[in-house]
Amino acid sequence: MTPKFNKNNDNLLPVIIQDATSKEVLMLGYMNQEAFEKTQAENRVTFYSRSKQRLWTKGESSHNFLDVVAIKIDCDQDTILIKANAHGPTCHTGKVSCFDDGDESRFRESENNFTINDLEKTIHQRIDDQVEGSYTYSLIQKGINKVAQKVGEEAVETVIDAINGREEDFIYEAGDLMYHYLVLLKAKGYSLSDIEKELAKRHQ
Ligand code: AMP
Ligand code: ZN
Ligand code: ZN
Ligand code: ZN
Repeated sequence: MTPKFNKNNDNLLPVIIQDATSKEVLMLGYMNQEAFEKTQAENRVTFYSRSKQRLWTKGESSHNFLDVVAIKIDCDQDTILIKANAHGPTCHTGKVSCFDDGDESRFRESENNFTINDLEKTIHQRIDDQVEGSYTYSLIQKGINKVAQKVGEEAVETVIDAINGREEDFIYEAGDLMYHYLVLLKAKGYSLSDIEKELAKRHQ
């Protein structure tokens, strides 16, 4: 898909810059056809600056360049999304993102964004580093049968609460199940990526 630059009088299209890894929206800029082609040719973001009225390679003076990872065009070809790796803070104020308002929201957000991958990493760390006093490590020391049995128990508790439990009990047990499932995978020498590979084979 190619962007339609002639949709507006100014021949400019908005460009959303997203951090390729953290998925954070870093900034919004504009491109004309020339800026778009330069960006593709160099794999580095060049905007058309409306204030400077010229092509503007982001990072030209700060050296905080944006290296292109992927370019996507929206459904009606009038907005560009670029996934990028930033060499440094993208906002000229020194902040990572132009939408980072400086309060604690970023921190709170990341606290809530505890992912299954984070959980798996923590589980693997407790086991690989043989962390004394860790529930995960003590569980795995009891052997594979004990871990597998725990998964069975948590699965049954989840099923019971799914059928006639309270909402919060169901979520609690579903969390228990996920945790013990990840420990069992690890005990068998696997990780979530092995499961993803297996499922990808079946996904046409
Ligand atoms: P840079 O492209 O990072 O070398 O910055 C050059 C100039 O562009 C800065 O002095 C600012 O005036 C402007 N600028 C840089 N980054 C941004 C941004 N994220 N949003 C708006 N203006 C910016
Ligand atoms: Zn659109
Ligand atoms: Zn900014
Ligand atoms: Zn439970």
